[in-house]
Amino acid sequence: MKHNGRLLIISCCVIMLSILPCLAQHVKKPNIILIVSDDHAYQAISAYGSQMNSTPHIDRIGREGAIMERAYVTNSVCSPSRAVILTGKYSHKNGLVDNGTFFDSTQQTFPKLLQGAGYKTAVIGKWHLWSEPTGFDYWNILPAQGNYYNPGFIKLGKDTTYKGYVTDVITDLSLQWIEQNKAAPFCLLLFNKAPHRNWMPPLKYLDRFNNQPFALPANFGDDYKNRLALQRQQITIAQSLDIRYDSKIPCDTCAVTPVNKWAPDEWRREIDRLSPEEKRLWDAAYEKEARAYHLLKTDEERVRFQYQRFMEDYLRCVQSVDDNVGRVLDYVDESGLKENTIVIYMSDQGFYLGEHGLYDKRFMYEESFRTPLLIRYPGEVKSGQHNQDFTLNVDIAPTLLDWAGIDIPKDVQGNSMKNLLKHGKDDTWRKEIYYHYYEKSFGLTPHYGVKTDRYKLIHFYGPIDSWELYDLKKDENEMHNLIDQPAHAGLVNQLKQRIVYWQNYYQDPVKH
Ligand code: CA
Repeated sequence: MKHNGRLLIISCCVIMLSILPCLAQHVKKPNIILIVSDDHAYQAISAYGSQMNSTPHIDRIGREGAIMERAYVTNSVCSPSRAVILTGKYSHKNGLVDNGTFFDSTQQTFPKLLQGAGYKTAVIGKWHLWSEPTGFDYWNILPAQGNYYNPGFIKLGKDTTYKGYVTDVITDLSLQWIEQNKAAPFCLLLFNKAPHRNWMPPLKYLDRFNNQPFALPANFGDDYKNRLALQRQQITIAQSLDIRYDSKIPCDTCAVTPVNKWAPDEWRREIDRLSPEEKRLWDAAYEKEARAYHLLKTDEERVRFQYQRFMEDYLRCVQSVDDNVGRVLDYVDESGLKENTIVIYMSDQGFYLGEHGLYDKRFMYEESFRTPLLIRYPGEVKSGQHNQDFTLNVDIAPTLLDWAGIDIPKDVQGNSMKNLLKHGKDDTWRKEIYYHYYEKSFGLTPHYGVKTDRYKLIHFYGPIDSWELYDLKKDENEMHNLIDQPAHAGLVNQLKQRIVYWQNYYQDPVKH
């Protein structure tokens, strides 16, 4: 018996010793790298089915983790989306409803909560929230929209300039910061400027896609029938792209579009940042484009030319983003950080690549409402997932807090995706999403709405009062507004009630 007892004690010790490393690993707080690009359309990511370009590194996050196929944003424009991501709250709660509003930096954010729990925190790249970052041990941000070439930064309050292309510089600074801070659990927000307008490509890719003609999307010629808000917008490829600013064609006699009234000669200021040698490369590449432009005869030819120019430059910027995502992944994997580091790639919202004849974002139509979202966290995120649940940018903060073992504050409005991602399903997950956009710039109309698995109801308000209903099963391109069809009256009433439900749920004080 004595002998058996000793054996039992030894066996228990062996079991305990084998479990301990697992326990230690489990309680170790994960590192976080949150990469948010600006205006990156899911249509321009091969993991989401793009045939136009290849993004092997972004795809790799999804292959080794999860591709969120139905990820959306609550307010599709730059600053508001960033504020939603930081706070886990809708715009009316975090106070930043449009691009012109200051972010109240005294409020709770997930980096602040992580910092309070012992994390080293940093934000590097595009901030665009106007107030100084708080809750970060290190911050090095672009002033406002920032520049693509040899960009200026504000490093902990001090102006500084770096040589190089903005996406490379942001990644260089990020990897340096991780290298210096990887001993503690760290949280890095790597916020790209690219591929935001006016899509200035890295010089090494000036010729890429030159020989690849881009077909116009099937609904490029949308006539906007029965859709008043679309009739009012000023974000079309045909009318609103500026030949100098967007297409990079020097032209003194061309029409002046609103962007040039708003920021005259902005296009020249960006090019003036190039060194003489860089400028020679630039001129050589774009002289060819300018010659081709001046040979165009019809308006239709000009529109096709501008679409082609837009797509080339946009995808060149995306290529550099993908390269740099690859650098981050390689660094993480080669430094032995892979198992305990969460890597998220997303955009602040989606973007139109010619659908409905548009570029830009803002509308609740799918292309700008949706965002790419790919998440890798070995062990906690089932690999190879193609998740079909409705996830939102408001879910990022609670998910990261949950993974870090920090209680999610009651006033956070998003949901933690922890269980969803661990098991690939969560029966309690939301089945609808609520959206609210506020800004009136570029001819846009504020609107809110609800999306269910099959339908979408949108209310455009102030200065117009216009409703739109879409059956996404029959009309995935959202071309047929069904609001006036008597057969759908019951459905419209039902969806209006769902909007009221979500406005109450999120305490959105809608006054119309
Ligand atoms: Ca944006």
